[in-house]
Amino acid sequence: MRTRRFGSTLVPAVGQGTWHMERDSAAGNDPIAALRAGLDLGMAHIDTAEMYGNGDVEELVGKAMQGRRDEVFLVSKVLPQNASSQGTRRALEASLRRLGTDHLDSYLLHWRGRVPLQETMTAMLQLRDEGKTRSVGVSNFDEADIDEVVLLVGPGVIACNQVLYHLRERAIEHAVIPTCVRHGIAVTAYSPFGSGSADFPAKDPTLLRIAKQRGVTTRQVALAFLLRLDSVLTIPKSSRPNRVQENAAAGELELDDEEIAVIELAFPLAAKPETLPML
Ligand code: NAP
Repeated sequence: MRTRRFGSTLVPAVGQGTWHMERDSAAGNDPIAALRAGLDLGMAHIDTAEMYGNGDVEELVGKAMQGRRDEVFLVSKVLPQNASSQGTRRALEASLRRLGTDHLDSYLLHWRGRVPLQETMTAMLQLRDEGKTRSVGVSNFDEADIDEVVLLVGPGVIACNQVLYHLRERAIEHAVIPTCVRHGIAVTAYSPFGSGSADFPAKDPTLLRIAKQRGVTTRQVALAFLLRLDSVLTIPKSSRPNRVQENAAAGELELDDEEIAVIELAFPLAAKPETLPML
């Protein structure tokens, strides 16, 4: 599996998302087995959040990590309404309890809210200095937000910006990715399959053609397209071990320039939107 720089660490280019896993568990799927299968395949980066299932997903991740914490690069996120000075501390400590660990590898502000950024970042850095998280980061930040937070905390502090990025939503290519690259911030592409639909990317004719030539799947091609950029890593979510295996294998797939050009034609970069798209 190819790796990407995330703060001072190297993490696998393909990690594991966890949004809505509590529903899969209730429906009889086995997200814990899927997460553990991912760890077996080297997908160490597990992304979660206090928001997911109101904490139920963090508990589920905690069960998946039992006996394997050392293998995991664990990321969670604070909700903006909890991101005050004391609220951030309470939220992180509650996340750690649900996850059954004493530290995160990265703690992110889920999106920007009303609490001043300075207050949130001061709290996060204090928690980092206490060893409760190894690094801090942000999510759903546009280029101006990134410049602002870097000005506040200084260079080399923000490890990642987690943002929406898939073939049909390439808006971050305009300015967010270049800004992150300029500041040495990893770009974590969330919802790389557009959060899941039966037709996309599975039935897209361009992806089908490339997938057939390469003997891979359309989803692997879709992930490999995002990973053509060295600054990008991605966190597809699946509660099914066989699909996790498929997603992990995309970490090995490198598209050539011609394939990338064909895909860019089929999924053109739209005009820059006024605000950063997010889910
Ligand atoms: P996604 O990863 O784009 O797609 C997930 C959907 O695709 C699920 O329905 C999953 O179903 C299906 N799927 C996954 N692998 C598959 C495969 N190989 N074949 C067929 N279907 C497959 O969507 P996402 O969950 O929205 O995004 C990924 C992660 O990013 C989230 O889980 C979360 O951790 C993070 N995220 C962050 C934010 C943020 O604001 N920071 C927002 C959204 C998401 P099964 O599970 O049934 O396989």
